[in-house]
Amino acid sequence: MEITEVRIFPRESRDKKLKAYATVTFDDCFVVRDIKVIQGNKGLFVAMPSRKMKESCSKCGHRNVVRSKYCNACGATLPMIEIVPTDKEERQSEHRDIAHPINSEFREHIQKAVLDKYDSLPESEKASDTHSHTSDENIDNNNQAKA
Ligand SMILES: [Zn+2]
Repeated sequence: MEITEVRIFPRESRDKKLKAYATVTFDDCFVVRDIKVIQGNKGLFVAMPSRKMKESCSKCGHRNVVRSKYCNACGATLPMIEIVPTDKEERQSEHRDIAHPINSEFREHIQKAVLDKYDSLPESEKASDTHSHTSDENIDNNNQAKA
């Protein structure tokens, strides 16, 4: 299976960790959207599209985000689901991949294709916050006003 097209859609998230969405085409005939380019502690990585797991309220049937304490629709107390202690497994219980490679080789292949494309974007397209003021600048301005 070959990656025949990668399209990058830069996106600025509030926490600055989500850098872009990617749409990847395989063999000119299969498209996967909402692949994410994320800034991690050790550099950029690619996350497969995922959805938040929901659980139904036993009283009214409203679909709440997993491990909500109360139902968002009727306020009923929801049964607590056993939480697996490690961060990784906790995340997996909340998010489930919609589409993903089943071996690390192909995961690497997708990641490289997406990150190469992302890196090839001009800087002006990657970041849209270059004109915003930093908090440091604001503090300086305040001090000058007082003096
Ligand atoms: Zn309910």
